[in-house]
Amino acid sequence: MSEGAAKKEEKPRKFQAIRGTRDLLPPETALWNRVEQIAHEVFATFGFGEIRLPIVEQTELFRRSVGIDTDIVSKEMFTFPENFREQLDLRRDYLAMRARELRNQLPAKDAMKSFISFTSDFLDLAHSTFSRGQIPQTAENKDSLDQIHSRILSWEPKVKQKEFQCTEQDWLLFLSDIVMLANRLEIGGLISLRPEATASVCRAYIEHGMQQLPQPVKLYYMGPMFRRERPQKGRYRQFYQIGAEVLDHVRPAETILGEVDKELRRDAVIDAEVIEMLMTFFGKCGLQGTTVYINSIGHNAPNCRRGYVEKLRAELTRIKDKLGPDSQRRIDANPLRVLDSKLESEQPYIERLPRIADHLCDECKAHYAAVKRELDQRDVKYQENWRLVRGLDYYMRTTFEIIAPGLGSQNAVCGGGRYDGLVELLGGRPTKGIGFAIGEDRLILSLQEVDKRSSDTGVQSPLATHQSPPLYIAWMGERAYATALGAAKTLRNAGFRVELPPVEQKFGTALGRAVQLRAKYALILGDNEVTSGEWTLKTLADGTQRKVSEQQLIAELKKM
Ligand code: ATP
Ligand code: MG
Repeated sequence: MSEGAAKKEEKPRKFQAIRGTRDLLPPETALWNRVEQIAHEVFATFGFGEIRLPIVEQTELFRRSVGIDTDIVSKEMFTFPENFREQLDLRRDYLAMRARELRNQLPAKDAMKSFISFTSDFLDLAHSTFSRGQIPQTAENKDSLDQIHSRILSWEPKVKQKEFQCTEQDWLLFLSDIVMLANRLEIGGLISLRPEATASVCRAYIEHGMQQLPQPVKLYYMGPMFRRERPQKGRYRQFYQIGAEVLDHVRPAETILGEVDKELRRDAVIDAEVIEMLMTFFGKCGLQGTTVYINSIGHNAPNCRRGYVEKLRAELTRIKDKLGPDSQRRIDANPLRVLDSKLESEQPYIERLPRIADHLCDECKAHYAAVKRELDQRDVKYQENWRLVRGLDYYMRTTFEIIAPGLGSQNAVCGGGRYDGLVELLGGRPTKGIGFAIGEDRLILSLQEVDKRSSDTGVQSPLATHQSPPLYIAWMGERAYATALGAAKTLRNAGFRVELPPVEQKFGTALGRAVQLRAKYALILGDNEVTSGEWTLKTLADGTQRKVSEQQLIAELKKM
């Protein structure tokens, strides 16, 4: 069947957005734009600049930064083979298939030549991806490539000779060597839709040498993130985050000698300012009833968090039979995460577990106290929550979370924390970092709740999107149409929303339509108006009309 015929056979079919994704439609999108605009404005006043990041990154970046034991990396990422990987994989499969076919006989010279030339193409592609770092630049990969190269070099002249001869054994050895070497190549090269953006910001900080810039570097981003979770209210597979990160290179020990207190203070001020910025943003959005939870999880050292984790593990082991299977599993792998548990039956036991605040080293203690002092000075209200933890080694000291009303059990609108080890883990210089990510979908949901409640009480919500009502131009006749076009252009240039009906309507129909569109005014243009130059402006609410000239129109509208 030809392609055309196949097309004709296709029946019409309806499509739906895939599970966990959704369309955002007007008028709700106006709210999204407003929130994003407020973020741009507020973050700029705190000296942050916007970074726009790719939606896809190498899977390895997230494995390293988010951590392979997390739910996000172990089961929620959308991962694909990269294009070059597919090509290399396909060619490798083909190579193996050809080799299998050729193994059974001592083949004709032409077949040998073509196999060798195909192998040589495969090598070229593998070489170029290797030199661009798209397949891992390991010693093993280099060795495999070198060996394939040397096999080709020794066989190419052989098959070119007129009096070509080789034993079946030699040829078989060559085939199996090539297949073995090709299979030994580690191609890697998976990419994932980003489940979060901190990893990308750190990657970009390193990639663009931002350590050279005046520190700290303050960046923010907004955009979609992807996690394959069970969709429900406030939880989607494509969701949106607005986030910010502060990256600050670690000064060499000798330059801060005797200034440890000053350094601690610097970090604490940065932490507090980030939280202050966040609350300023929420405030400007009109989000009400939020609670800020903060905690310090110390740092990854025996005299600090590691000591605590050992104590915690011992205690958890003692009460193991009181815990559910998830928590039991975590005792060994990641005991801190037991504190995250929402399982009702475990709560009384968790409440009695040792708390990290009692096990912080002196520096972490001082840092935590300084953060709280700084928050107080900024008038940021918070509650301490000792169970707010992060499972990864590079997270340290400050962690925080903000919850908002109207969201059911998905009530966290923002999570954040300090991650001083991350940039180094990704191959950069020692760099301190702190950041947060706001769940924009949940923020919008909560604002809509506030909006609902305030419309019940008659209080004007700060987020009511003040889209001005349109002005409707009711025109009749071709001459009036030309005038209407001109009027629409002038009004739109002056920033008015204008509805210009595409076809002539009777005035009654036109005014009905204007009311439907919630227009406040209708500009009536008929033959009389065009001839006299006196236009009719009708106020739809009370039906009053007045005559205005073209020159007066805008001034008149602005007055009204
Ligand atoms: P949760 O405990 O709600 O799953 P999380 O710890 O996975 O949150 P983070 O990775 O810290 O969340 O992301 C920061 C914020 O992004 C969350 O506080 C939340 O508002 C939002 N968020 C996370 N996952 C989703 C999702 N699947 N859909 C909508 N928003 C989300
Ligand atoms: Mg989650």
